[in-house]
Amino acid sequence: MEIKITKTASPKTMLPENELGFGKYFSDHMFVMDYDTEKGWHDARIVPFGNISLHPASTVLHYGAEIFEGLKAYRRADGGIQLFRPLENIRRMNNSAERMCLPVIDENDALEILTRFVELEKDWVPHSVGTSFYLRPFMFGNDEHLGVHAVSRATFMLIGSPSGSYYKEGINPVKIMIESEDVRTVRGGTGYAKCGGNYAASTRAGERANKKGYSQVLWLDGVERKYIEEVGAMNVMFKIDGEIVTPALTGSILPGITRKSCIEVLKSLGYKVSERLLSVDELMEAVRNGKLEEAWGCGTAAVVSPIGRLMYEDVEYSINGEKIGKTTQKLYDILTGIQWGTEEDKFGWIYKID
Ligand SMILES: *Cc1c(COP(=O)(O)O)cnc(C)c1O
Repeated sequence: MEIKITKTASPKTMLPENELGFGKYFSDHMFVMDYDTEKGWHDARIVPFGNISLHPASTVLHYGAEIFEGLKAYRRADGGIQLFRPLENIRRMNNSAERMCLPVIDENDALEILTRFVELEKDWVPHSVGTSFYLRPFMFGNDEHLGVHAVSRATFMLIGSPSGSYYKEGINPVKIMIESEDVRTVRGGTGYAKCGGNYAASTRAGERANKKGYSQVLWLDGVERKYIEEVGAMNVMFKIDGEIVTPALTGSILPGITRKSCIEVLKSLGYKVSERLLSVDELMEAVRNGKLEEAWGCGTAAVVSPIGRLMYEDVEYSINGEKIGKTTQKLYDILTGIQWGTEEDKFGWIYKID
């Protein structure tokens, strides 16, 4: 595919790597591509990073037609750069697009966009342990009228943000509150799509949990308020009596690539992994009789995030003495080892750029 490149006239300097944080600073350029029903995707271009202008009636501003992805470019010790399962992100983005009536992008084109962008921005991929260049592809409907129907114009963009280590102060288990009022999504809704609206609707519960001293909420299903779904914006796994249990992908759960990778790693280590419905009653029963050995969230940002305390109906329970468990630690070590290239990639998950 043809990508027109316009380089910035005023390159920025990279911040000290220990000051990066997450998603606060952006590299010098961004990728943009337009879609309309006549021309399909066109005008693929990399331009200097900057504000964009939208028609005030743009679909995304009124009806929320927006989807996104998140993945990281990792710097290896030999200086090279690699991505982790990028095709999984591309396929998920197309599934999200389909759900939101947005146009899909050819898989090879999407991979080429990621590759060319990271190549151009390679100096923005930090070197320190645990750091990465976070890639945020996103797409929005951009019709310039207020009629409600499938979009006939859309924009796809890719921005990149050098990001600090998620665990600068070490992996500390977090406190989680089981949410019994708000729900994130319902089956038949948009739960399996990575769309901005899901985030807008789940912010309130997260904020309320923060105020009470919890870092995230554990979501229950939207129909019966009975089955465990996700934790914040991460998938969730439990080790109950030696077995790994994670909620099945029923349609209201985001199919995480970290979740999928954890399952594959755990199975390769000989663990029994069940993807099934897990009710909050079953979970609390396991907590009370000491069978809940470990609990963790999993997602690209944190990789795995151990859960140390769980609050349900005004009672707080502690898990594994509020320490990271053996299985959680092992998963973290294996996945981060593959991602940063210090561990052999037995699964064929790495896509080298450089
Ligand atoms: C992105 C996301 C995840 C994690 O997906 P990964 O592919 O592992 O990063 C989990 N839940 C929600 C709601 C998400 O948006």
